[in-house]
Amino acid sequence: FPEELTQLLDSHVREVPDFPEPGVLFRDITPLLADGPAFAALVDALAERYRGKVDAVAGLESRGFILAAPLAHALGVGMITIRKAGRLPGPVTGVDYTLEYGTARLELRPETVTADQRVLIIDDVLATGGTARAAIELIEGAGARVAGLTMLLELDELRGREQLTDYPLDSILRY
Ligand code: AMP
Repeated sequence: FPEELTQLLDSHVREVPDFPEPGVLFRDITPLLADGPAFAALVDALAERYRGKVDAVAGLESRGFILAAPLAHALGVGMITIRKAGRLPGPVTGVDYTLEYGTARLELRPETVTADQRVLIIDDVLATGGTARAAIELIEGAGARVAGLTMLLELDELRGREQLTDYPLDSILRY
């Protein structure tokens, strides 16, 4: 992605120490979303990169949804919602995964994907990669293909990328 874009986006990401708990440096994208030109530049750049290459965009609840919906619209493809446990009406498939503290579960309605569809998974932040891995399992378990993953922001020191080596992974900002 061009330097001009990454600088613009970076200038709208806020660092919040000790949120939501002590020791976490939270990367807050709400200033970016609230800025019309920056948000548009982000969606336009992603649309340019993936146009014609994917058949659907899967957003991860909840900040992934904010990016997935305008991107899917720009690409003229559908959006798939991968949600936290208990939010989607059934039938659903689920994958449990470990977080730094405890476990979490993501769910998908397999009826929302079709066989061999090329799916792009999108989220705001790649940290340990656990969330992205669970999303891959859900998409592949439903018979579709993961064409790639795209993250607005990657936290290098948490080494999530190492869990995702079999898939094309784009992150726009790396910290
Ligand atoms: P992980 O499964 O560890 O890769 O965590 C990724 C998920 O947690 C994403 O959905 C992010 O929204 C969120 N997340 C993890 N760490 C941060 C952080 N430092 N700032 C903002 N969001 C984060």
